[in-house]
Amino acid sequence: MIESVDSHCHLQTSVLRPNAGALVDEARYQGVREILVAGITPSETDSTVELAEQLGVWCSVGCHPCHAAEWDPQPVVRWTNHPRVVAIGECGLDYFHKPFDAHLQEQVFRDQIEMAKEANLPLILHNRDSDSDLIRILRDTNAPAGVFHCFGADRATLDAALELGFFISFAGNVTFPKAVFREIVASVPSDRLLVETDSPWLAPVPYRGKTNVPAYVTSVLLEVAKLRDEDPENLGSQVVANFRVCFPKTAPLSRNCA
Ligand SMILES: [Zn+2]
Repeated sequence: MIESVDSHCHLQTSVLRPNAGALVDEARYQGVREILVAGITPSETDSTVELAEQLGVWCSVGCHPCHAAEWDPQPVVRWTNHPRVVAIGECGLDYFHKPFDAHLQEQVFRDQIEMAKEANLPLILHNRDSDSDLIRILRDTNAPAGVFHCFGADRATLDAALELGFFISFAGNVTFPKAVFREIVASVPSDRLLVETDSPWLAPVPYRGKTNVPAYVTSVLLEVAKLRDEDPENLGSQVVANFRVCFPKTAPLSRNCA
């Protein structure tokens, strides 16, 4: 059995939520040891935490940059001490989806960085076509580490992310033959690597075009192992260990203390 984790999925979305229990069972049956539901909007925070509690999975709370106009710290900050809430995000910058307000995105991102510092939680970063501004803000704020979700940037950004202490998570698009960033997958140190589905989006080959689900993360792991010329079983155990380092509240020891 190949173990893995789904470090980033969206079971709270209307496509997945009605079947979330069955999807978690299926993923666990396939060896997925840990699942993290990443927050998208402040207004959904209560129901996302409730879902995580109900399913026995982890979640993050925050505001995706494409929803920066909906930012409201109040419903987010009140959950940061909850035992199932293990990170702030997904947050960051997105200059791909247009139109966008870079100034507003930066402000909302900075607010969440401060919140993460205050709560002593890692950040889940979303970065699309915004590499240099994102790195600038992380440096400028002395941001706590965490993970670059759905990594698809260039080598310089990878180097900066690693230097800042971040983990690098690859999603289903790493299986797409034309993905340019496939060439840097082997450059990520094995103790900084994570995998995810970003479901319901970005289903990996051979499920491309279908609704993505957490169980498909094994296909992502297999592709990453292939690109790194590593044994998938070893890599799987490594990403499980990495997950618990990246998100310390999920570590078995802190679970017992909670
Ligand atoms: Zn996401």
